[in-house]
Amino acid sequence: MALRQIRVYGDDILTKKCREVKEMTPRLQELIDDMLETMYDADGVGLAAPQVGVLRRIVVIDVGEGPIVLVNPRITLQEGEQEGMEGCLSVPGKIGQVTRPGHVIVEGLDRDMNPVTVEGEELLARALCHELDHLEGVVYTSKVEGELYDAGALDEEEEDGESGENEDSAEK
Ligand SMILES: [Zn+2]
Repeated sequence: MALRQIRVYGDDILTKKCREVKEMTPRLQELIDDMLETMYDADGVGLAAPQVGVLRRIVVIDVGEGPIVLVNPRITLQEGEQEGMEGCLSVPGKIGQVTRPGHVIVEGLDRDMNPVTVEGEELLARALCHELDHLEGVVYTSKVEGELYDAGALDEEEEDGESGENEDSAEK
């Protein structure tokens, strides 16, 4: 496994639509391992393949309940609404308010290409929507209501500034 470089806002690749995975390969398995390692290393709760420069429909998420790997994911149900602050590993140091569904169901494939269904509320619903947007070339900043804030300004009282305690501003 290896850390991959996270592409940051302004990089064209983040605005491109990703291609479906037709066949799992050792190379894509390695990509998934690297994405997980890169996400944990950056203290993120999610990462999409285009964020490491690969235009494939693969996302990884861990909101503290263990890793989720989704290949070719699609939202099959969304309902309700939640408001909250959101961040992105590709937009370092920034957060902004985004309204997302309160409850989503996502269907896709796991890393062995077996069908899988993930149901999420709260942070998991937000992370699923955020990561799936990346596969369409959509960065959350286009959905922010109002301003984009410096994440540090809200974290001042935290000693290390990288704590995962403020779940709603976790970077994805
Ligand atoms: Zn993101």
